[in-house]
Amino acid sequence: MLPVKQAEEIILGLVQPMDPVEDQEQVELLSARGRVLAESVVGTLDFPHWDNSAMDGYAVRYEDVAEVRGDRPLQLEIIEEIPAGKPPQKTIDKGQAARIFTGSMMPPGADTVTIQEDTQRQGDRVEILSAPSQRGEWVRYQGSFYQSGTPLLSPGIVLSAPDIAVLATAQITQVPVYRRCKIAILSTGDELVAPGQPLKPGQLVDSNQYALAAAVTAAGGEPLLMGIVGDQPEALQKAIAHALTVADIVLSTGGVSVGDYDYVEQILTQLKGTIHIKKVGIRPGKPLTVASFPREASTSSVLYFGLPGNPVSALVTFWRFVQPAMRKFAGWKQGWEPQFLTARSQQELRGGGPREIYLWGKIHCIDGIYQFEPAGGSHSSGNLINLAQTTALAVIPVGVSRIAPGDPIQVLAIDG
Ligand code: AMP
Ligand code: MG
Repeated sequence: MLPVKQAEEIILGLVQPMDPVEDQEQVELLSARGRVLAESVVGTLDFPHWDNSAMDGYAVRYEDVAEVRGDRPLQLEIIEEIPAGKPPQKTIDKGQAARIFTGSMMPPGADTVTIQEDTQRQGDRVEILSAPSQRGEWVRYQGSFYQSGTPLLSPGIVLSAPDIAVLATAQITQVPVYRRCKIAILSTGDELVAPGQPLKPGQLVDSNQYALAAAVTAAGGEPLLMGIVGDQPEALQKAIAHALTVADIVLSTGGVSVGDYDYVEQILTQLKGTIHIKKVGIRPGKPLTVASFPREASTSSVLYFGLPGNPVSALVTFWRFVQPAMRKFAGWKQGWEPQFLTARSQQELRGGGPREIYLWGKIHCIDGIYQFEPAGGSHSSGNLINLAQTTALAVIPVGVSRIAPGDPIQVLAIDG
């Protein structure tokens, strides 16, 4: 039984990220949020695009107004009004100013903006009431935020709303991103029926395929639903062999315990997979099988996760092990490892035993402090009902038997 951290290291060590060229696709800017940038983006426009005003006011020459004081105001002639979006037509000379608005282009000759509040308008003249603190005050210079030709965004970042703003302003409407990784999902078990099918005595609804498809989508992958396969070795072997040809990562649930009908491990060996992990010291989720298969015409391999059948175990092991592997595979430059937060437990939590324990519940931020509220009812791996609305998993390390209310605890936040 491998400790959790060691299993994580083995799994992440097996993952070879996608190829930034071969696995690249172009998406429309509006579809790029959440996608992983595949190559460095370089803009062809300076930002700001030209010298412009940061405020509403008057474009002036610094030397004209440098000596102005409240008791010695200065009148300037307004020779032009420059609305946003219109280039200035005139050059500002000694004794002249232009009415200017936020974002408007600075007119030639002017080098400073006096804000409206420091002026008094008198027809086609303006009285300047105070001197700017320096030349260039309230001017945003061309290229002062970004110079064209230099890297704007680097590969391996997950694009978010501000990145979309940056891409839009750089006029990059087609964005080079990694393709979504394909995750095949299959459920094993003679007892399973698809949701919506009549249930005979002893049968169970296959929730895992749906739960995992949702989790895969939330993690940025493309789920490929491979259906339910009964506990027949031949059918299972065929289904797994097929899944391995269409996906980057294959997830199965069930059939990895030590029961008489648990065939997955034996099939993986028959299919010439290398088995790296058979059991992990995690509760829930101990019977986790991880294997790799060489991929045709490639140096990378297809990863196989045989997740436990218990619905809670399946999701917990997905969040703890599969999601980080997906992120690394998807081209994330960094941060693919699970990110733990420190929270205070709202209730007493019980630990013990040889495995690291993951308790599901909710995370709240109260007065700036994270708090963990364990799910009500039993933390049984077969109880998927109280898994609803889970936003965090709290970790009780091996060797810790009790967490008192208010004690700090490491928490894995679940997104999506
Ligand atoms: P197994 O690992 O196949 O022994 O399954 C462990 C438990 O999880 C059994 O109670 C199964 O009925 C249940 N289970 C297995 N697969 C699924 C599934 N796809 N959806 C919901 N429950 C499942
Ligand atoms: Mg089973």
